[in-house]
Parts: sequence; C-alpha cells; structure tokens
Amino acid sequence: MDFRDVFIGKRSFKTMIASAIEVYSRETNGALLGRNTTMNIDGVKKKVLSVKNVYPIQTEKRKRSEVSHGNIAAFGRFLRAMRSLKTNMVGGFHSHPHPYEGNKLSMGDVEFIRDEIKAMSKIGQRGIEKGWLEIVISIRRKNYKRSGISKWYTCSYVKKVRCKIRTQKRVGYDIIVSAYWVYPEKTVKKKVQYSVKETAVYVPWIVE
Ligand SMILES: [Zn+2]
Repeated sequence: MDFRDVFIGKRSFKTMIASAIEVYSRETNGALLGRNTTMNIDGVKKKVLSVKNVYPIQTEKRKRSEVSHGNIAAFGRFLRAMRSLKTNMVGGFHSHPHPYEGNKLSMGDVEFIRDEIKAMSKIGQRGIEKGWLEIVISIRRKNYKRSGISKWYTCSYVKKVRCKIRTQKRVGYDIIVSAYWVYPEKTVKKKVQYSVKETAVYVPWIVE
C-alpha cells in the first residue's frame, strides 16, 4: 500500500469547512475526488494524493455522532453518476462536532467505509479497493469575549491542519483536519479486515 501524504486544494478545503459549519452539531459527509501526482512542497518533490474536488452528499441522514446514507437509492445514483462522469473518487470526508470522537476514526467509521468500498466495487469502481482516504474534520463552536479575525495554521509537529474561523465578531469555529488511509490488511474467513493509518495533510496555500 502506497500511503501517500495528501494535498488539499484551496477550493476543496473551503468547501469541506463550510459544509461542516453549515450542519454544525450534526455530522457532514461527502466524497473526495482526486489523483496521484508529484508536487513541490517546501522545496521538496513529493508524491502526493491531490484532492481536486469535494462533493458534500445532500441526501445523508445527519445525526449527532453518526452519519449514514439516509437514502440508499440516492447514494446509488450518486455513485453511478460519479462513474459516468469519469470522476476519480478516492475516498470521503466527514465531520466530528464537539464533543464526539475527537480526531480519530471510530470503529463505526471504518465499518461505514468498508461498506462504501463494497458498494463502489459492485458498480466497477475498484480504484479504492487498495486504499480509501478519509478526511476527518473535528469542529468546535466557540464564543469569544473579544472580537477577532480568522486564523489558519498548520501544526508542524503533527500531521494535521488547524484553523480558527470567525464567522461573527465573537463567534468562531476551532477546526482540526486529519487524514487517514483505510486499507485492507488481511482476509480472515473470506472477510477483509481493514486497518487505519494516519497521513499528513498539506495545504501550503494557507500561508499565501
Ligand atoms: Zn467519524
């Protein structure tokens, strides 16, 4: 398995953040479209998975601490549309509103991803069988005493990106973005078992 680091383009990143804020207190969920490429990051050539586009799925049933496909028929239409439009779906994203689950993928998340991989394989989308990229957006709403501006920064000591976004003078969201590869590790009694490995998120445009 090629555990590539992840580059997220500006527009895709902002769409994910906005969709997490839109449904805040419940989880958002969507698809990641992208491709493997080589990029110059901090002066070093690096093989990365580049997220080119994201698609928030509109028919999801969103609850606190759980997202499921609220409409199976709609999800099937979505997958087939993706295939027909020749998009390269590389995984998904979802949010964890405070105080649930933190930055990590839950057991339920991995099971959900396993089912998505199955559903996609069924319609001939096999690219994700070797590895599925899942981006987790941990989000916490905050009320501030003082007014301030939005801040973006990457944490150099971990693989994550953190941003603090003010949507009003004294209201903001503290957001941590993490990325994980979910990949088949072994098959036990004809059942594929999946493992999870965290990978680094790059958003070099953030310092522009
Ligand atoms: Zn989750």
